[in-house]
Amino acid sequence: MGKVLELINHEFDCECGRTHYVPIREINTGEGALSPTGFERILGGKRALMLCDYHTKSAVNDRLAEDLREHGWKLKVREFQSERLKNDDAVVGTVVLDTEPGMDGIVAVGGGTVTDLGRFVASRLGKPFILVMTCPSMDGYASNVAAVAVDGRRKIFKDCRYPDAIFGDMAVIGGAPFDLIKSGFGDMLGKRTALPDWALSRRMTGEYFCERAAALMDESSMNCVLNLNGLISRDARAIAALTDALVMTGVCMALVSDTRPASGSEHIFSHFMVESALDSGSFISHGVSVGFGTLISTLLYRYLLEELHPAELESITDELLKYLLPPEQVWDLLTNSRITADIEGYLSGEAIAEMIRRCAAPDKRYTILRYLSDCGHLENGIRYTSDALGKIAGQR
Ligand SMILES: [Zn+2]
Ligand SMILES: [Zn+2]
Repeated sequence: MGKVLELINHEFDCECGRTHYVPIREINTGEGALSPTGFERILGGKRALMLCDYHTKSAVNDRLAEDLREHGWKLKVREFQSERLKNDDAVVGTVVLDTEPGMDGIVAVGGGTVTDLGRFVASRLGKPFILVMTCPSMDGYASNVAAVAVDGRRKIFKDCRYPDAIFGDMAVIGGAPFDLIKSGFGDMLGKRTALPDWALSRRMTGEYFCERAAALMDESSMNCVLNLNGLISRDARAIAALTDALVMTGVCMALVSDTRPASGSEHIFSHFMVESALDSGSFISHGVSVGFGTLISTLLYRYLLEELHPAELESITDELLKYLLPPEQVWDLLTNSRITADIEGYLSGEAIAEMIRRCAAPDKRYTILRYLSDCGHLENGIRYTSDALGKIAGQR
């Protein structure tokens, strides 16, 4: 976590022209990270509501609660029992009812869902919030955004507080189910197209760009790509590299107050896939859909750079290629991480064509999709991508 610690809890001037500030006080996944003293330092007292779900009961919930109580904490614990917790009106209401006057803050133990819940409620109460991460499944830990379903519709609240501290026990994180690890891997693979999309937007729309954040994301993502075999064998160093990369991603988004360093066309595809799955009563994880979206975006970039190669992009072609991986390599990474096993239903040419068209809509963030659409080559790009995907999937 060395590099990430240089970026948090203090202001600094950056070459991008901005002053960056990430208001997270501590991040620690090392020895003794879950010590009661550290918790008290962050919350400023010993009265807290702890949120968790039963999946992590024996791995961390019981041990942490007992340890805090032995150190004099007045701790109320809400352990959710549902197989797949969903943050909705009722769940948020339950947590609000669990709070008591005089509580010093909230401790949320879990993955994306439980920690979003803690972030949301702590923000509305104006209390400090400690996030205890239990799996390397996504990059939103170090963020101020929470997803909550209101009246049945998923709503993104962008005005929450950052966690005051992020703590984690690597033994717990490394023992997470492989589905969660591969989801985190897919999310990090996504930076291979998020970064070119950001550079493309800077060139075409003059969008703000921070070289430092981009370089950190580039490095973090490659650390995961190069460590996939270690993730599969649950090598401790590989799991630590993925965990660091996911936390670093949140910090980079916080640096620029925007999801741009982490999210481009592959995330637009992901949101489309996640929502379509929800509408049809099925499920696809964020990271798995980002991984698949990365393959589609990479193929569209190959079409752009090898077939179209427009003169106006000559000045940034080397930069785009620095970030992009060959589509064949992306396919192999998806297969080896067992992401392709979850996306078989999405491989039909017509479904992909429709997804690309919908994701190129003018109300979406500027990415390669808007570029191709604006210059009238979207349909050619779709045909190229469908053909190329069929060949890659067939050959391998
Ligand atoms: Zn993501
Ligand atoms: Zn900067």
